[in-house]
Amino acid sequence: MNGLKYLAGYSEKLTGQVELLLAENRLAGFLLGKYPTTHEIRTDRALYEFTLEIKTEFLRNAQPLSRVTYDGKINVINNALGLHTFISRVQGGRLKAKNEIRIAAVFRQAPLQFLRMIVVHELAHLKEREHNKAFYRLCEYMEPAYHQLEFDARIYLTQLELAGPLYRENSEMTDEDGKSPTDPVPA
Ligand SMILES: [Zn+2]
Repeated sequence: MNGLKYLAGYSEKLTGQVELLLAENRLAGFLLGKYPTTHEIRTDRALYEFTLEIKTEFLRNAQPLSRVTYDGKINVINNALGLHTFISRVQGGRLKAKNEIRIAAVFRQAPLQFLRMIVVHELAHLKEREHNKAFYRLCEYMEPAYHQLEFDARIYLTQLELAGPLYRENSEMTDEDGKSPTDPVPA
């Protein structure tokens, strides 16, 4: 049985390799070899600008984005690394549409490539609601390594849960509750 919940859905061949690395205490070294550093996109404002840059490059004509934020309430176990919400309502006789993207807060401190992969996924939902072929084609158009990066991001979540923080600043910045002292208080 595959006991790695973040990797449910992947083949035993792939998850077996991760289990072996875990068992031999080599998962951290594997990840750090591939992803030695984290990004510096820590604030919602920086995240919005980062997302807008990718949107402008690839999806200039898609609907506008109202908000992009990190969200500590996203449950990454339920397969969601981010969320896209589309709200439309009639306001003053006109239809107003709002697109919001939320990214699981755990990726505030993560390799840039993982953040980019999640942003690309949520941006693709501006065009395709469902996870169909067209959707994944769009993801790969914006990020050719999309599928590998999603797998690696899930390995990273596995590492964090079963083997501890990966990046030095993870342990330096967090207190014993696992919360960063600079994290906003949840509203
Ligand atoms: Zn999705």
